[in-house]
Amino acid sequence: MPDRLYFDYASSTPVHPDIQKALFDMVPRFYANSESLHQAGLEIHQRVEQSRQDIAKLLKVEAQELTFTSGATESNNLLIKGIAFAYQSRGKHLITSAVEHVSVLDSFKDLEAHFGFELTILPVNALGYVEPETLKAALRQDTILVSLMAVNNETGVIFKTQAYSELVHSLSKAVFHVDAVQALAKVPFSLKGVDAASFSAHKIQGVKGSGLFYKRSGIRMQPLITGGQQENGLRPGTPNAINHILFAQTLKLALESQKNHHDQVVMLNHHLRTEMQKIPSLHLNAQEDLCSPYIINLRSDRLPSQVLLNWLDQNQICISAAATCSSRQKGTSHVLEAMGLSPKELEGVVRISIGANTTLAECDTLLSVLKEGLTRYGRSQD
Ligand code: PMP
Repeated sequence: MPDRLYFDYASSTPVHPDIQKALFDMVPRFYANSESLHQAGLEIHQRVEQSRQDIAKLLKVEAQELTFTSGATESNNLLIKGIAFAYQSRGKHLITSAVEHVSVLDSFKDLEAHFGFELTILPVNALGYVEPETLKAALRQDTILVSLMAVNNETGVIFKTQAYSELVHSLSKAVFHVDAVQALAKVPFSLKGVDAASFSAHKIQGVKGSGLFYKRSGIRMQPLITGGQQENGLRPGTPNAINHILFAQTLKLALESQKNHHDQVVMLNHHLRTEMQKIPSLHLNAQEDLCSPYIINLRSDRLPSQVLLNWLDQNQICISAAATCSSRQKGTSHVLEAMGLSPKELEGVVRISIGANTTLAECDTLLSVLKEGLTRYGRSQD
């Protein structure tokens, strides 16, 4: 396989070598059902509970507030629908934003279309985040759930989680949920003031199909899946114990990496942005000081995103156009559209995302291939 340059870390990440090793060690040994009451089952069960406790310590919450899932799509669905159903006797008004991940937006749209809930979708400003004043104006006495992400997966824009939490809790009785997938071990993030949150392991060098949610003690939710008492009945089914065990180690490694590689990531992000700004036909869609250093969203007014993507792909460079989860559907980015980009501007949107192992040499190769593509296929000269 040719050496690829990978600039799509916001879609998924390579599994950390230590996690690969732990996985290969466990697969042949940990085959028993972690709910079985024999020694083989109990040993695995104990390790799952240890992992839950280790994660709780790292996130500064209680172990019983954490539930393992298959990923953040599942976490978002279970929490949003489960909380809405549990509190519907108090009110039926829900709030989210126009730039959420599809697993959040579609959960809310389902509740509105099929279960009689009323949904307010908050706009973002041109910078890409929900103004606290916009949330304030939308909160009502019958609002039961507010969900606003921590970091946008397409633009990298960091939301004002603490400000939203204060507004939600001072002006309503609503539960405050945060999709924290792109914040975990990437930007400073705290669960203080957050009632529920969703996480995913494969964005932080863990395995795919491994997720988690946090639900503060006392917050109610109706289970969407029935069939057993695993995960306190909130996520029944034989647990994927190995994934659950690996989550703690994944998070520990990711937090260490965040600390050790932060300056390097910030430097590379700045370098890429500075060099891209020198190319007249490229435009950055979100401001450096408002974004996670791992994500750069840009647009070309010379090449449609698919042409740019294909050109880079031919040159062994992986990037994304908008979010990967909707990349096989026709249409442009709902996030950039919500930020006010015109249909013409939306045509050229791409996302570059870096990771802890990205190097300066890789960034320079990306920049030179990008420039070559723009010159070779561009609609007009720079
Ligand atoms: N929320 C956000 C912000 C994401 O970036 C993603 C992954 N694209 C998800 C949710 C879904 O996560 P998973 O792939 O674990 O289902």
